[in-house]
Amino acid sequence: MTVRPGQKGTAGVEEVPRPDPHDGALLVRGRAIGVCGTDREIADGAYGTPPSGEEQLIIGHESLGEVLEAPVGSGFAPGDLIVGIVRRPDPVPCPACAAGEWDMCRTDGFGERGIVRLHGYGSEQWRVEPDFAVPILPRLGELGVLLEPASVLAKAWDQVDQISRRAFFQRGRALVTGAGPIGLMACLLGAQRGYEVHAVDLAQAGRKRDLAEDLGVRYHAGDAAGIDVDVDVIIECTGLGSVAHSAAQRLASGGIMCLTGIMNLDAALDLDATTMNRNMVLHNQVLFGTVNAGRRHWEQAAEALATADPGWLTGLITRRVPLASWTEALDRQPEDIKVVVDLTA
Ligand SMILES: [Zn+2]
Repeated sequence: MTVRPGQKGTAGVEEVPRPDPHDGALLVRGRAIGVCGTDREIADGAYGTPPSGEEQLIIGHESLGEVLEAPVGSGFAPGDLIVGIVRRPDPVPCPACAAGEWDMCRTDGFGERGIVRLHGYGSEQWRVEPDFAVPILPRLGELGVLLEPASVLAKAWDQVDQISRRAFFQRGRALVTGAGPIGLMACLLGAQRGYEVHAVDLAQAGRKRDLAEDLGVRYHAGDAAGIDVDVDVIIECTGLGSVAHSAAQRLASGGIMCLTGIMNLDAALDLDATTMNRNMVLHNQVLFGTVNAGRRHWEQAAEALATADPGWLTGLITRRVPLASWTEALDRQPEDIKVVVDLTA
């Protein structure tokens, strides 16, 4: 699965060299790749960087593969299902990367497989370092491809948990804006924590609503401003400033709001910074942003998937395309939630 970053319309399938042993001691047979908005941005020429000295990038950062070769003592063995972690530390490194917290990198010197400066996992074989591989329970099978999006939400919720320890806090209600793959994963992790989860999305009916309601989530179709309850936590997953602004009106005193999405589609927002300042100060609120995931979040995500209902997780994967026609995964279809490329087909 290749693309020339910066050049729209270059996504396709090409023969590439065998994976370089320098990319990691584990040799892996690629099984599946999940496709997300970042991949669409790269394919549109709007994002992504090839490795130094190359024009082409092997895309694919939501991975699942089966170990073919593993050195003795690596902790892995042939046949193991694994997912490759996306980010690698800034080689310089920055102080956060030096402390092993490369998801909190202080520079833009990090690499990300399939996105920035490093080839991704969208090939029939790939390599990964044992320290950047996460084991997947055999019974999860194909559902392991959901680990990367789950890791991003595991970090978001882990940060909420840590911030909530600053003072008195009760796990009451949580609101998730957007019921796509990221929003539904946010709902799952919130429900697992015991929150009364509410979700808001524009879709009146359909699979997104069904999946949210299957978790016991209270689903609201329409505008976040129309929600009739106040909430202790908001996980914003649309990337739309107007949605974040509406949702923030429902944040209770002492509440925590997490931004996970970025979009460039929103019209300029008329934000009253004075009112926002006043509301946040008088109500002890926290607003924070989060990106990527550290090693412990990948492990938390693996635990969350292992605990979830496999039937529900299967419902998130709405379309599968074979490697030869993987670019069809980039075209959004109305009922899509997570589209997966089958690297074995
Ligand atoms: Zn760094």
